[in-house]
Amino acid sequence: MKQNLVSIVSGATRGIGSKIRDELLLSGYSVIYIGSNDDSVVKNQPRIKLNHGQFAKGISINFKGWPTWVDTTWSQFICRNGKIETKIESNDLMAGFDKKQYRLDLLVNCAGITQTTAAIKANTNEMADIMNVNFMSSVSLTQLALKQMIRNTKLHGHRGKIVNIASVLGDSSSNIIVPGTAMYSASKAAMIQYNRVLSEELKRLSIDVQTISPGLVESTDMIKTLDPEIQQKLREKLPNGELTSVNGIIAAMGLKNLA
Ligand code: NDP
Repeated sequence: MKQNLVSIVSGATRGIGSKIRDELLLSGYSVIYIGSNDDSVVKNQPRIKLNHGQFAKGISINFKGWPTWVDTTWSQFICRNGKIETKIESNDLMAGFDKKQYRLDLLVNCAGITQTTAAIKANTNEMADIMNVNFMSSVSLTQLALKQMIRNTKLHGHRGKIVNIASVLGDSSSNIIVPGTAMYSASKAAMIQYNRVLSEELKRLSIDVQTISPGLVESTDMIKTLDPEIQQKLREKLPNGELTSVNGIIAAMGLKNLA
């Protein structure tokens, strides 16, 4: 059964999320990766050779469209060795997988967007986009994944896990404040606090909730697109440490090796 474990990773077409996705595939998981649109999901599909019984499926969901996306169908692409084998329209995350054989083990909420204008100038659309992508959509994705995980816990005693990629900017204990990141920091603070409470609620079901708050991860698109002045302030204020590299983030997740 071990080799039929499934993980879901949002924000997995680029950057940190795509590296987590590929590491999960190399560890023997089947992976459902989520990107913001069909082109991105198809273009950025994994190029890793899959083992027998191992699947990779991309789902295209624009998280800016929360809450509408939750109740519509999503385009889903089952891919193998760099080619799309099947396209499905469904709002079942596990569509295409035989649920008797494949169990959802892990959800990684990694999708995120940054802020481009100071708090006082941010328009309502930008504010809504940041909250919808960074916070509200991860809450809804967590709920959808939990339905599958709770069933697996009750039927098979299988213990699932939810990992949230937040940011040191949203962690009030870090005391790091960078002007120009108010909405982004607030969206990550909301994610951290939501998951602290969720973790308590899920203890009785033996489902783990982990939140990882990285510092500045250099050479990611997210940092490259930031205003150079904000980049400089981030470099001055953010700690250097193990959560400033993708490898450090993956190590903190403590992934199972199913190979
Ligand atoms: P990238 O900008 O490289 O990638 C962002 C990912 O999120 C992409 O896969 C993108 O999908 C997806 N995404 C963006 N907008 C949407 C949307 N509207 N709907 C669905 N998916 C969307 O980001 P990073 O890899 O740098 O960051 C990953 C996470 O880590 C984020 O949550 C970020 O806040 C957090 N983080 C990053 C740090 C860093 O230094 N980079 C530091 C601390 C935290 P697509 O390509 O399809 O648009």
